[in-house]
Amino acid sequence: MGNPLGVHALVWTGGWAPEDAELAISSTAKAGFDLIEIPALDPSRIDIADTKQRLDAHGLKAGFSLGLTFETDINSEDPACVERGRATLMSALEVARGVGSSYLGGVLFGALAKYPAPVTDRARANSASVIKELAQEAARDDIVVGLEFVNRYESNLLNTVQQTLDYMDVVDEANVVVHADVYHMNIEENGFRKPLLLCGDRLGYVHIGESNRGYLGQGTIDFDEVFEALADVDYTGPMTFESFSSAVVDPQLSNTLAVWRNLWSDSMDLATHARAFISDGMQRARDTRGQRAQ
Ligand code: MN
Repeated sequence: MGNPLGVHALVWTGGWAPEDAELAISSTAKAGFDLIEIPALDPSRIDIADTKQRLDAHGLKAGFSLGLTFETDINSEDPACVERGRATLMSALEVARGVGSSYLGGVLFGALAKYPAPVTDRARANSASVIKELAQEAARDDIVVGLEFVNRYESNLLNTVQQTLDYMDVVDEANVVVHADVYHMNIEENGFRKPLLLCGDRLGYVHIGESNRGYLGQGTIDFDEVFEALADVDYTGPMTFESFSSAVVDPQLSNTLAVWRNLWSDSMDLATHARAFISDGMQRARDTRGQRAQ
């Protein structure tokens, strides 16, 4: 039994007009993936019926992800700002629900941006209270809410697994999971094994990305350690490949993520390589584990 494997839409295109959606969805299916992750930073940009029809036609599932902005930051002391963020998250949830997706994740808990100051208790409490409400609303359609902790330059609230688990204890909703991204873990954690074991069955979604966000295996991330830890916690959830290059640009997301360089130009070669890399790596890790158990 393997993990459902996915790819982020920005490997294919930065837009979501019908022709972009068709390119991204058909290419994801052609590369052999089970799901596509569609960015929903602006949920109003996504045509729900059109997206659902194309996913069904290609037999693919979708997950949705977004990060908030300083205008819509729920990790804020300003009630108006928190309310705008709540509205954005609820619209994103509507999109996920409409398309029939069972996953909404990302930097849902605050702005995806470099904060000018540390988090405050009141801002954190505002964030947790909105996420609790979002999770309760999502639970009505069995939608899982994933908290993607990110590096210090992209959030001041959740940078590590431990912080994410502590925050989840405050939110206290069963459909909230850890969304671990090894690119961010590589910056903030002491390693991969310990924090992934710490997640245990609270881990619900994994982003696989290289240290420079390019081809897997060409950077410094110890993927054997990552895959072996995931095998050891019997992780059977989605693993989605994330990679960004200036070759494919989303005006909102690319600049936020500081995608300035061209790390690849052939999306299909990149994606098929990544799929095999993840699938083979997980198989190897499970075999190693099986041999140890004998
Ligand atoms: Mn990620």
